[in-house]
Amino acid sequence: MTISKPKTCPKNPNKKIIAIDGPAGTGKSTVSELLAQNLGYLYLDTGAMYRALTLAAINARVNFLDSSAITRVGRRTKIDLKQSNNGSLNVFLNNRLVNDEIRSPKISSLVSFVAKIAEVRKIMVKLQRQIGKRQNCVVEGRDIGTVVFPDALVKFYLDASLDVRADRRFKELKLKGIRVALSEIKELIRRRDRSDVTRRVGPLKKALDAIRVDTSNLNIAQVVNRLLREVEKKSHG
Ligand code: C5P
Repeated sequence: MTISKPKTCPKNPNKKIIAIDGPAGTGKSTVSELLAQNLGYLYLDTGAMYRALTLAAINARVNFLDSSAITRVGRRTKIDLKQSNNGSLNVFLNNRLVNDEIRSPKISSLVSFVAKIAEVRKIMVKLQRQIGKRQNCVVEGRDIGTVVFPDALVKFYLDASLDVRADRRFKELKLKGIRVALSEIKELIRRRDRSDVTRRVGPLKKALDAIRVDTSNLNIAQVVNRLLREVEKKSHG
């Protein structure tokens, strides 16, 4: 797999990493993107990398129980994460824009099969570190504070109740015109959580030094402000 990043990325020896981990539906992506825009950092959505590879595996018609076949797809797949001028992230799979496609329920239900393959994670972690070495980043995922960037400047672990998370996903999909029953989404998230938490390599886990933020009763602006305050404290203290 090759990942190319935005062109404007001068080598920065004092790069800062903000790690944001947590389960699906906690508002991580929106919050991370806004935080990155606010700080003028690159937003790196590592979930999008696993999702894009899942789409590549579907396109290659591999058996999702065949780890070697998926790894082979990973090695020959070109994934590009490009930041647009307004700071949002565009994901390209072999030069094709796949932003919407990778958010489909089908990808969500298959991505855990890809994410639990040790060899795939090795490739992903290496690429993520290469990107983080070159510039300040807000990096969002499951293993960022624990495995990818254990020395991150600030680490956050976003959480929310399963009901709230399922409800958010339901509304998100509805807005996009995708109709899936709330109960089905809840079950999908529950299964994905289980797989993410119990996998052997890079499981979803709060780093000991991560700040836990329960977003169940907070809106996006409130979460972003809370995180910004913590980053400022760290930067000046
Ligand atoms: O964050 P998002 O829900 O898009 O992530 C999709 C999936 O990708 C997660 O459920 C997880 O299986 C995998 N993932 C991962 N490690 C990361 C980011 C995402 O295993 N750092």
